[in-house]
Amino acid sequence: MNSTPFAGAVQDAAAHVLDAVPEAYACFDSQFRYMFLNRAREQLLGEDRTNLLGQVLWEVYPALVGTRFQENCRRAMAQRVPVMFEDYDEALQRWFAFTATPDSEGGIVLRTVDITGRQQPEVAPAGAAASFDQRAEERTGKPPTRQRSVSRLQHSLLDAAPLENKRQTVADAIVRLFDADFCRIWLIRPGDLCERGCIYAGVRDGPHVCRRRDRCLHLLASAGRYTRIDGPGHRRVPFGCYKIGRLASEEEAKFLSNDVQHDPRIHDHAWARELGLVSFAGYQLRTPGEETLGVLVLFAKHPILADEDALLDGLGSTVALMVKRAAAEESLARRTEELARSNYSLSESQRIAHVGSWSMEVPIGIGVCAWTPETYRLFGVSPDTFVPSAELFQRLIHPDDRASMQAWIGACLAGEEPPDLEFRVGLPDGGVRYILGRGHLVRDAGNQPIRMVGIAQDITERKRAEEKLRLALADLGRSNKDLEQFAYVASHDLQEPLRMVSSYTQLLARRYQGQLDASANKFIAYAVDGANRMQRLIEDLLAYSRVGTRAKGFELIDCTAVLDRALANLKAAIDASGAVVTHGPLPAVVHDNLLLVQLFQNLIGNAIKFHVEAPPRVHVSAEQKGGEWVFAVRDNGIGIDPQYAQRIFTIFQRLHTNEEYSGTGIGLAICKKIVERRGGRVWVESQPGSGSTFYFTVPIGGAGL
Ligand code: ADP
Repeated sequence: MNSTPFAGAVQDAAAHVLDAVPEAYACFDSQFRYMFLNRAREQLLGEDRTNLLGQVLWEVYPALVGTRFQENCRRAMAQRVPVMFEDYDEALQRWFAFTATPDSEGGIVLRTVDITGRQQPEVAPAGAAASFDQRAEERTGKPPTRQRSVSRLQHSLLDAAPLENKRQTVADAIVRLFDADFCRIWLIRPGDLCERGCIYAGVRDGPHVCRRRDRCLHLLASAGRYTRIDGPGHRRVPFGCYKIGRLASEEEAKFLSNDVQHDPRIHDHAWARELGLVSFAGYQLRTPGEETLGVLVLFAKHPILADEDALLDGLGSTVALMVKRAAAEESLARRTEELARSNYSLSESQRIAHVGSWSMEVPIGIGVCAWTPETYRLFGVSPDTFVPSAELFQRLIHPDDRASMQAWIGACLAGEEPPDLEFRVGLPDGGVRYILGRGHLVRDAGNQPIRMVGIAQDITERKRAEEKLRLALADLGRSNKDLEQFAYVASHDLQEPLRMVSSYTQLLARRYQGQLDASANKFIAYAVDGANRMQRLIEDLLAYSRVGTRAKGFELIDCTAVLDRALANLKAAIDASGAVVTHGPLPAVVHDNLLLVQLFQNLIGNAIKFHVEAPPRVHVSAEQKGGEWVFAVRDNGIGIDPQYAQRIFTIFQRLHTNEEYSGTGIGLAICKKIVERRGGRVWVESQPGSGSTFYFTVPIGGAGL
């Protein structure tokens, strides 16, 4: 304490003033040593203050250790906040209101006011009270402490403990303290519809009709006689039915009868007589201004006196408070659990889907950013060390993508709903993660932007696969080009020496006709034939490679004209075989004219070539199916075993020797290439000996280009 003479004088004056006031004051230092007591405190404790000064409170009064009193005083001392509380002093048998106020020296000042008079309920008439006290004393053999016990019970009801236990504690205590025959607590279960298992559900009129079918009273605690709380007849009372149900539904907060055997308000006098009951008391359980939560009732074999009634009424209020608090705690716990559960499933599903979500309050840069755990993972940071903000977020983004991110956020903020943004994030291990960002602006009721919300999806795998595919396609394109180039160059350059071989062998044959022997003529004929075949092979190969190298000359072409041209090219073969080629209506399609002629020519040429005894009959038709034209070239030729249906479209694949049917095995490969170049398909349906039908498709209009 301050030791200047002036301060000392002030302190003395203050001590004098404090000695004059009726409230008890005591000052303690930080160790709870008495530093000062006023006279009222001295009188209250019945101790000379000089004996107490410097003594530690808890050592002088060890009974206070572990009490609510100690807890409150310690709280005021430790937290440096004033704490007000009321408590019952067992030793003095009185109620006190305490105020523990921290002082500037690190201790506390404790003010104590005796409120015993205030705590007492309305006192019953002297005679009646005496009769209760006598009864209590007779019953227990101890002086009456009912009010104290009720107060203690009320305190304990507001502590944290399961509601179920507390309800039973109250019922038991009432039977014990008020010498009741039995006591019961009925609580309303909101939303418990009568139809669900209630024995009164079918009652539509009379005294047993339920007045509120959305509420029902349940017997939830019972003590004394008849403690059974199971069985449909006892368990449940409709709201507004019987005395109990009516008590719950009526405005009157309580009901008391001390003559239940004759009171006209009690309906079953015979029952009351049979049990020897005298009194019935019922109390609505409700907190001020709220709906009834239930009813507390008791029957006794003695009158319930005014002071008992008041105590029970007070107990009813505490029980109501306890039920309400428990319901609030229960719903809070339920919500907390639900929230935890939904948070868990959200973060689990985000983890599995590699999708995180985020929100940024507007204005960006000042407002709070919130990320889900998966978002942290996607950006390669830990929630323990990284606090998301607009600025730090930018730093996580690959430098090359920062500008587009900035522009994207700007567009979102302007309410433009920009398309999803793909960007890269640099990871701590030096790697890169590809993210797809999607976001939009949330506005308040006044249309003011309040925050941006969105998701971040890990698309790294997809990007890698796309990249691989792109490289593979580029590779394939390159090697195809190389191959075509090679085939073209090879076949083109082969033509020249071949022409020499062929023309000189023919010259040899002509010039030395008749001068050479039969074998020499035969050899020359072989050589000429070989050279011719090679010529055809080279021409076909050139044609094959040209399908790929030709510039796309797609235009709308009349297929009838194309067919005419192909038939003109095939005139010699048609005449030689006596083939009849017919056709149905043919459409105009978008295609390359020369390639289409070649396609028809190859298919019809084969249809004529692979014929049987009878003259070849070929029919060309077209049918529209979905978004494409399906062309068919049908013949009556030798047919094809279905097992070769795929193979014949591969280059150089033939099913016959050259002696049987001439050819190079390139024709159908060329057809396939032409059809696919325009996005179509080609296939054959056939059986050996039953003719073949070759189909190919051309997408309608410009589709497939
Ligand atoms: P080529 O006609 O030069 O042998 P293609 O590639 O045109 O080569 O045909 C490959 C093979 O498909 C032919 O050798 C033949 O066995 C079979 N084929 C093609 N068209 C028909 C058809 N219309 N009827 C029966 N078989 C056919």
